[in-house]
Amino acid sequence: MTVLDALAALQTQGIGLLEAVRGMSRNELAAYGLRGATAGSWLRLADVFFGPTRRRRAQAAAVAAARDGELSVDALLIIDKHTRKLLDGDEWALRAELCRLRGTVDDIDRAAAARVRELNRTAKDSDRKAYGRRALRGGKNTDAQGLRTITVTLPERLMAQALAALRTTARGLRRDNARLSYEQAMADAFTAHIHGRGKAAGREALTPLVVVGLPDWARLLRGDGGDCVFALTDGTTITGAELIAHSLADHHLVGLYDPVAGPVNLYRSQRQATLKQRLLLSAETILCPWPGCTTGADESQVHHVRAWNHGGDTNLDNLSMACPVHNGRNDDDPNAPPRHGRLAREGGRLVHHPPDGGPPQVNTHPIRGMSARGLLDDA
Ligand SMILES: [Zn+2]
Repeated sequence: MTVLDALAALQTQGIGLLEAVRGMSRNELAAYGLRGATAGSWLRLADVFFGPTRRRRAQAAAVAAARDGELSVDALLIIDKHTRKLLDGDEWALRAELCRLRGTVDDIDRAAAARVRELNRTAKDSDRKAYGRRALRGGKNTDAQGLRTITVTLPERLMAQALAALRTTARGLRRDNARLSYEQAMADAFTAHIHGRGKAAGREALTPLVVVGLPDWARLLRGDGGDCVFALTDGTTITGAELIAHSLADHHLVGLYDPVAGPVNLYRSQRQATLKQRLLLSAETILCPWPGCTTGADESQVHHVRAWNHGGDTNLDNLSMACPVHNGRNDDDPNAPPRHGRLAREGGRLVHHPPDGGPPQVNTHPIRGMSARGLLDDA
């Protein structure tokens, strides 16, 4: 057995491992080479799946599903983390449901987050509770290079707005100094805003586009679409109730999509028609289509699927949004040896052909299910 075989065998036995370590002390488990904090989290998790509970049957169902799916300890830790974010309802039923998720740990992470988010939207006072958890932490420990780090937690809309304001300032800083990296410019923008020297927020910021399917639009107009959830091109989501409360025209463009015929129209007064392609493409993808990428369409660039230099047209069927990183990495030259793979349109969908020649992959992030393309695929 090679070392990699051993790793693979261990990773498929998360439940078996937890069963084996249950009852050990933190020090005993840490003696196997784990960090103390990691050992502690394994032991807490072992107690969840094997400790006493009044919900014995639900617990057994979760254990069986996790064993059946050969989930790793990492996957189980993530499932438990998301389960604990449930605001209202049956935690054990949810834990068992999430243990039936399959895929890579990252796939499970995203799907579990999306599922809990969906459940929490219907919880009483969910917005107020989420807002109550806003926080700025850290900044007190100096690392070996003399640096300190803070973490800021905000409801997604507030965070998207804050970052959009920082990005506007950062763009200006990079125009003045091309040697600044994106991260450096964002850090400088943060400091500038703290000292009141930020660009007036919002003036140059993009207006996120809300993607609404026609059936939901009809419900919104009737006033009973409050519980609908829509995706925005900045990678956040909004409920029908919030959309109505915020007066559509002032804040967001709204794209309407017919499940059969595709894009119908873009409603909005102030944007120029020259942006129409970009807006349609943003609504189509919501996020960069590269597998695993979480960059919103608003921060992405228009990408030629068949490169401009190789005769590709600037037509919708040859364009897609792609984040700056993946737009740059894409193998534009079909004759050069593959390095990072390339984006392609197949059956209207955007796929990524990996450089090893394997089957095409898509970005499976759950919010993409609410993109215009996702609405079409659903229909
Ligand atoms: Zn990307």
